[in-house]
Amino acid sequence: MNPIIIAVDGYSATGKSTTAKRVAEILGYTFIDTGAMYRAVALYFLENNIPFQDENPEMLAALERIHLDFILNPDTGRRDMYMNGRNIEREIREMRISDIVSEVSTLSEVRRRLVALQQAMGTRGGVVMDGRDIGTVVFPQAELKLFLTADMEIRVKRRLAEIAKKGGEPIDADTVRKNLIHRDNIDSTREDSPLRMAEDAVEIDTSFLTIPEQTEIAVGMAQNIIQRMATA
Ligand code: C5P
Repeated sequence: MNPIIIAVDGYSATGKSTTAKRVAEILGYTFIDTGAMYRAVALYFLENNIPFQDENPEMLAALERIHLDFILNPDTGRRDMYMNGRNIEREIREMRISDIVSEVSTLSEVRRRLVALQQAMGTRGGVVMDGRDIGTVVFPQAELKLFLTADMEIRVKRRLAEIAKKGGEPIDADTVRKNLIHRDNIDSTREDSPLRMAEDAVEIDTSFLTIPEQTEIAVGMAQNIIQRMATA
């Protein structure tokens, strides 16, 4: 059976990564968290004091020095984000990165490079890729496109629970809410590849769904497509 490409797009903290990871595990596909790649670039710029503006030669040179990999973590069974050989999975989730990542993601040079990497990772199919522009720009030919949404207060609660679970820095609901609104706004109004639902995407409101429920919906859709393709 031919492995397909599953694009999972939507706003921040709507359950994209959680759903995409589980769907990938069930189907035996590779999960690719493209947000982690934008976060890695933001971390590099922050640590090296790189002023981020399109066409800034210092930033273009810096992009050449960033090498990204996803490497399996035997303790979790999942792939962590590595930048230039260093595991940055934890650091990229910190608020100092969430605060700047959407600005970094508006830059066309950054997007051009990361999109090329993402396309190379998915050429053979068998991937579940989560992001903002996967169904519209990275893989417009993806066989299944999901667009996740959820009520803002539910998104805030989920993000707080996730931070607490991962033992991250303590943070209050107001800070999380402000960050989500800020990122939604920049992500959906930027000029280059703004966040929007692809015309052929299926919208799933996860507000009142459990993780197993949203996973089951997505896996069911994927299996239908895979079966249809096998019998076509
Ligand atoms: O998915 P996550 O919330 O970790 O993504 C962090 C940020 O990276 C998003 O707010 C968005 O600005 C950017 N991003 C993007 N395109 C993607 C994935 C993430 O612009 N495909």
